[in-house]
Amino acid sequence: MNLKLTNPKTIKSIAEQFGFTFKKGLGQNFLTSEAVLDEIADAAECDGGGVLEIGPGFGVLTRALSERAEKVVSLEIDERLIEVLKYTLSDRRNVTVKNRDVLKTDLKSLISEEFGGEKISVAANLPYYITTPIITKLLEGGLPLKNIVVMVQKEVADRLCAKPASKDYGAITLLCRYFSEPEIITNVPAGLFVPPPKVDSAVLRLRLLDKPRVDVSDEKIFFKTVKAAFSQRRKTLLNCMSAYFSLDKGVLSAALEEISIDPKRRGETLSIEEFAAAADMTARLTGADGQK
Ligand code: SAM
Repeated sequence: MNLKLTNPKTIKSIAEQFGFTFKKGLGQNFLTSEAVLDEIADAAECDGGGVLEIGPGFGVLTRALSERAEKVVSLEIDERLIEVLKYTLSDRRNVTVKNRDVLKTDLKSLISEEFGGEKISVAANLPYYITTPIITKLLEGGLPLKNIVVMVQKEVADRLCAKPASKDYGAITLLCRYFSEPEIITNVPAGLFVPPPKVDSAVLRLRLLDKPRVDVSDEKIFFKTVKAAFSQRRKTLLNCMSAYFSLDKGVLSAALEEISIDPKRRGETLSIEEFAAAADMTARLTGADGQK
């Protein structure tokens, strides 16, 4: 098959052939850069292994992945694209396309059925309207993953890779750092998509850690502590945490000082190690479920 899916003229002619119109609501912006496709597929480090792709569109990234991986499974929500993909991937023996909504799919079962127990990579040019729920699902799902390589809005990539005390640092940054080593692979201007989105993009790799970056006595309380700390960004850690966990300010203040965290600091200045210490302290003060 000699289809050049990165060529805007090819995209247009396939769209005409299948009567396909782009749905903005499904984040349908198709990538036209061969170089960026190679960067995503290479960053997934899937040579000889398995890859789960989210949102294949016309199959441009699917083809690049199928050249490297042993097996590619692609989940596409838009039923209209299934016929198109049968055509654009007709020469690919190692690709399975499923008409599925990634957010409604039991990924643990799917990965186990399709790939056995093997660790796989996820690669996607994500639909931007659901970037955070998808990344959260992938990270929190206890899935056998090696790498997650995704195209996201540039500002989201900056947030996921942010350093403490920067304006971009937030709860999602800590979620990523807890489970993975995040890294921006390359920036991608809006003009490299058809149709172009309103924002610039970046390719992000989350390399999954063998075990969470910090040891905590209770993971749920760790994430509740993070949520509490960012619940009111302008307030001190003491105020945010005492309100969120209904804790006495005097007791909490003394407990924070005991673990060398100034209660007057703002939550957004804490490193992940300090969050871990604050979470274990909260677990001691509140009991196992984070409720007093
Ligand atoms: N992979 C293609 C590319 O790189 O050109 C298309 C990427 S486009 C940004 C996002 C794709 O995700 C679209 O094909 C869209 O239909 C699909 N999509 C949107 N929401 C989805 C969902 N919940 N589950 C699976 N696919 C979805």
